[in-house]
Amino acid sequence: MILDDEVVRLVGMNEKALNLLSEPDRVIQCRIRRHVPSGHKFIKVYLVYHSAARGPPCKGGVRMSSDVTLEEVAQLAEIMTYKNALMDLPFGGAKAGIVADSELPPEAKLTIIEGFAHEIRYELLSGNYVPAPDIGTSPREMAVIFGETHIRESVTGKPIGIGGLPGRREATGYGVSAVSERAVQEFLGKELSDVAVAVQGFGNVGSWACSFLDEKGAKIVAVTDKYGGTIRKEGININELKKHFQKNGTVDGYDGKHLSNEELFGLDVDLLIPAAIGGVITKKNAESIKADLIVEGANAPITKEADEILARKGVIVVPDILANAGGVVASYDEWRKGKSGSKTKREETFATIKETLLEVFEEVLDFSTNKKVPLRKAALAIAASRVIDTMEGRGWI
Ligand code: NAD
Repeated sequence: MILDDEVVRLVGMNEKALNLLSEPDRVIQCRIRRHVPSGHKFIKVYLVYHSAARGPPCKGGVRMSSDVTLEEVAQLAEIMTYKNALMDLPFGGAKAGIVADSELPPEAKLTIIEGFAHEIRYELLSGNYVPAPDIGTSPREMAVIFGETHIRESVTGKPIGIGGLPGRREATGYGVSAVSERAVQEFLGKELSDVAVAVQGFGNVGSWACSFLDEKGAKIVAVTDKYGGTIRKEGININELKKHFQKNGTVDGYDGKHLSNEELFGLDVDLLIPAAIGGVITKKNAESIKADLIVEGANAPITKEADEILARKGVIVVPDILANAGGVVASYDEWRKGKSGSKTKREETFATIKETLLEVFEEVLDFSTNKKVPLRKAALAIAASRVIDTMEGRGWI
């Protein structure tokens, strides 16, 4: 459970609520049985509903990775419950995992996603689960899911031509940049144009976060992905880095440099943005972190032990359920517009994300200051209170 004793005490959670939230509502495990031209025989699928208190629908992305586990999917579903509640969206929390290599040839990947949509078709058609992209999936895969359901609001993060939201692709990275700007002002007393930034991950979240931070004048000095990365003290040209990535499939080697992920975490920067995978900042490397501020672009990039070490060192952490919520805020808009058929402009999507995230930022900051707790505990306490209020309203507790 991601709520610790202090958060439980802060929100005055009773036994019944604690019981309901301490384990997932429902876990679906199945296998994709159709032939996949890849050597994989049967591909495992997990779909975890953590809490449907504020749903259905339950919302959360689809992760495709050869090492995704049920435990990880359950943790991510739990994060979604609190992220959706923190943003005050009428969504429960869920997550799906497909145990397959996300770098398979496109035709194999499409067959896998078709098989996935088929296996969970009742969840999709009933509107219980509304997927979106996560690690290893993109608008293309969401288009395949739409192709199976033919219901626009059954999936978000779709390509624009089939009802996707302009700005949804960039939404999470945009939100990370907006929250970073505000956090840099609040905690470092600086503007983005005065800070050096290191980013782990150059996929959907990391690459867009880099672009928007670069646009706002931040100096991005280092970027890594799963193969390693690059460093330039004077600041990396992000447009050139994107070209290198498109050609090579990695940011490693850009400008003739190589930087390991461990080296990235130890850099003397103002702002560190882990935007790749979970559990990368641990008790082993937390002591060596020199950044003053960490904004979590990824879900759960910092382990509990590392969180405590960072708090002791005075490093401020803006938690995932606030920092990377731009995607689900945009998804809510896409879902609503899927039902109504209305359209939105890219700038309107960005304005909604900025307004929502910054409003919640102030709320979390106030709670954190008043109760003298770190931002993560404040954010979780606000979110958990919203879930509890809803469960009370439904007569569940
Ligand atoms: P993605 O698949 O587009 O990109 C993942 C990135 O992580 C790639 O650059 C990859 O090379 C890198 N990576 C993978 N394994 C790594 C390793 N072992 N070490 C270092 N880098 C590694 O995924 P994404 O959609 O950008 O998601 C990134 C994170 O953000 C995930 O934690 C995801 O749950 C979270 N997130 C994504 C969204 C979204 O809208 N896509 C929304 C909220 C949160």
